[in-house]
Amino acid sequence: EGMSHHRKRLTELEKQIKGITEQYPDALVLTQVGSFYEAYWEQAKLVAKLLGMRLASKSFGEAKAPMAGFPLTQMVKHASTLVQQGHKVVIVDEFQDLLRQRKGLIDRRVSRVITPGTGVDEAFVKIESSNFVLALGVVDGSSEEETIGMAYRDVSTGASFTRTSTLATLRDSILLVQPKEVVVDEQLGATVLGKQISELLEAERIREGTMISTTSTDAIPSSSRKTPSAMQTAESVLLAYLARTLVANPPPRTKSTYVDPATVMQMDAVTLQSLEIRESLRGGLRGSLLGTVKRTVTPGGTRLLADRLCNPSTDLPTIYQRQALAQAGLGSLSVARPYIRGVLRSLDDTPRLLQRLAMKRPSAASDLCGLKRTMRALDTIKLEISRALPKSAVDAEANGWTVAQIRAIRELVEKLGQYPVLAGEIEAAIDEEALNKLEDAQELKAAELAELGETHVAKTEEKKRKALKRGQVWGDEEPWYVRPAYSAKLQELHDKLQRLRLAATDLQCDLQEHYNAPQLWLRDYKNTPTVRAEAKDGWTKLDEDKRLVIVSRTNRTRDYVSSDWSSLYKEIESTQSKIRRIEIDAAQVLIARVLEHFDDLTATGDALAELDVALGFAEVAEELDWVKPEMDDSRTLEIVNGRHPTVEAALAAQNRAFHANSLTMRHPDDAAEQPSFIHVLTGPNMAGKSTFLRQTALIAILAQSGSYIPAESARIGVFDRIFSRVGARDELDRDRSTFMIEMDEATSILEMATPHSLVLLDELGRGTSPIDGLAIAYAALEHLTHVNRSRTLFATHYHRLGQLLGYEEENPRGQGEWNGVEFWCTDVEESEESVRYLHAIRRGLNSDSAGLVVARLAGMPARAILEARKIRDMLLVDGQVY
Ligand code: ADP
Repeated sequence: EGMSHHRKRLTELEKQIKGITEQYPDALVLTQVGSFYEAYWEQAKLVAKLLGMRLASKSFGEAKAPMAGFPLTQMVKHASTLVQQGHKVVIVDEFQDLLRQRKGLIDRRVSRVITPGTGVDEAFVKIESSNFVLALGVVDGSSEEETIGMAYRDVSTGASFTRTSTLATLRDSILLVQPKEVVVDEQLGATVLGKQISELLEAERIREGTMISTTSTDAIPSSSRKTPSAMQTAESVLLAYLARTLVANPPPRTKSTYVDPATVMQMDAVTLQSLEIRESLRGGLRGSLLGTVKRTVTPGGTRLLADRLCNPSTDLPTIYQRQALAQAGLGSLSVARPYIRGVLRSLDDTPRLLQRLAMKRPSAASDLCGLKRTMRALDTIKLEISRALPKSAVDAEANGWTVAQIRAIRELVEKLGQYPVLAGEIEAAIDEEALNKLEDAQELKAAELAELGETHVAKTEEKKRKALKRGQVWGDEEPWYVRPAYSAKLQELHDKLQRLRLAATDLQCDLQEHYNAPQLWLRDYKNTPTVRAEAKDGWTKLDEDKRLVIVSRTNRTRDYVSSDWSSLYKEIESTQSKIRRIEIDAAQVLIARVLEHFDDLTATGDALAELDVALGFAEVAEELDWVKPEMDDSRTLEIVNGRHPTVEAALAAQNRAFHANSLTMRHPDDAAEQPSFIHVLTGPNMAGKSTFLRQTALIAILAQSGSYIPAESARIGVFDRIFSRVGARDELDRDRSTFMIEMDEATSILEMATPHSLVLLDELGRGTSPIDGLAIAYAALEHLTHVNRSRTLFATHYHRLGQLLGYEEENPRGQGEWNGVEFWCTDVEESEESVRYLHAIRRGLNSDSAGLVVARLAGMPARAILEARKIRDMLLVDGQVY
């Protein structure tokens, strides 16, 4: 008998869950059963462990299964925790299917699969950074050279992009996008290219912890009969995956932006990393460029800023427009700036509100209010701007307005849009104050539920009873947020409800009096309206009354069904559900109205982010005394007294000054008489070489992002690419030596750098023998000078390069075919006790690397230092210097 677990027939619920678990073998399945979500069997154990909950059990027929569950309201929180721990979560919800219900069955379907890349409003979606799911697509896959399409989307904001890549650059492209999840077609591995991609993804997954998912695209009809491009294929994969994950409420269709490599500065992963654009080498925002310049006050602004810094523009009109906005923020708008920033700070994240509404999230009512506040704020912002705008040409001149600024501001104002009617409709319908109260109450309840866990049902009952004792009649909370004045019908229902409530109060008093039972309350027990008497005094009289039916009794209480209360209760219920219906409909109507303006509102969100970024640029420029660089399409680079923004900030925090350095490069293509576009930098370590290299790139990146820059003045011919190989290397590649990685990186530079690129090389060739290293450095320099012709900063310890290129002390530049190369260096002041670093970059070649002084200061034995000095002097005489 004990072995009767082997049942032939599974229960309906078991069948449903087993079916779904088979469909999603890599996910945790949470199934709605009434007001709970539950996991069973092995998964229950895992869920309970991950969420720190007690494992319960559930009966399926006669069999018992381990079960872990929590109330519906806890879903967002718990699902988030599970996803954060690397799991996908399948949500199975109950659907009303009248046909099945009549047979006593409940219809359950998958309504969503929550994955790291498809978060909408879960806690794992970080507000200030993008949460991308990236899909890859190939057309044919038979060749490793083929284009790879990339389509990526932040489901929480709707931001959607496409771009192309190749197998060679795929890793860089992925690291640039920083997706939370990468999706490929499940058939991908069948092709040559696909196999390579899969291997690369697998390696990345292990390194970066990015989730890799697959999907089938069979269900997606191809849009045209022509073979789709790689990018279209990627978009199909993305759509298929979004349909598979956001099952019940797919995200709205959004046009994706093509990231055109011709209009965006290209940086590979090593460059992004070594320049510490998005995060510092130690990890985190602190110490990164983003962390240093960030003055944005909205999440959308911060996301846009990060995007700008990682994808600076190469398009001059775009750069000018961004500069004009920042300039206006510093100039004529400077008075209004703090106020406008204050308004921006108070707003909700517009794109997120829109996406939530479009995906029918339960927060609709408050999201509508958030949008309304944004719409109202637009008027305030525009009023402030129009006050500052010039009224006449004379006025413009007097207040420093340029035509470019006026045009940029007008365009922005236009894009901000206006929604007086829509805002009015939301305002007229939703009572925000009531809504806030309701939400506070719900939050409290959720917090209580979380705290109380499984005993919550009893405790809530207890609370209700106490409330009733305080004289409140049953159900006395007002969960309504649509104003009664919304419609005549609604007003009527509210009036009616009011009357019914009064009637209930009266009835309770009457009953208390009639039965002489002051401890008598009207209540609903498990949705059955009863009259409860809590003290013995009334019981006899109540029992005697034939009209009352006793339904439950305990030592202390008795519950009766009274037809008076039952009919009144029924009427209250029906009135309430009518009100609820109208409220839901009202919200639906408003959502539909908002979605009519979806594209405009998306543009509004973009414009607000743009404004935030521009005012943030103004803020940082004012604070740190930055200037507006002159930008053109030449190959010039002229920086007067430039600084490294992050190093300067770090030094300032210690009350130390940063030594500014200048740089002038003139390219032969710009008809320079004395070209100088390759600078060879020598000098001891720790004297500021890599800081100088990095600051040059950072200034270019800031300039092309539309920001002001840390310098006295600058003229910058736009860069199409930046290659930075400075400082700490990525040593995680275990299969290859540091030298091999270095050569690999140098190769990509020599293959891809153009006359419009910026190349920063630090100690190329150091990983091999001095003679090979020098040869490699020489060859790379030769290639950069004559083939790539890129503006280059080449930091090296190979002083011999000076001799090889015709360097002379009076004329520190290359001769003959090396015309265009200049020599610059750093210095130290040495003494017996110390070295002092000057951090000044001067013309010339410094063959003294101060290595021996540093060695001595590091405590190397005196004898060894002596030997080192001897051999060094001998080598110098010998001329065998590298
Ligand atoms: P190198 O590349 O020559 O070894 P770094 O550029 O890494 O030297 O500089 C070492 C340290 O010197 C930096 O961390 C910074 O604190 C300081 N430093 C560098 N450049 C400057 C400068 N221009 N002004 C002031 N301090 C600087």
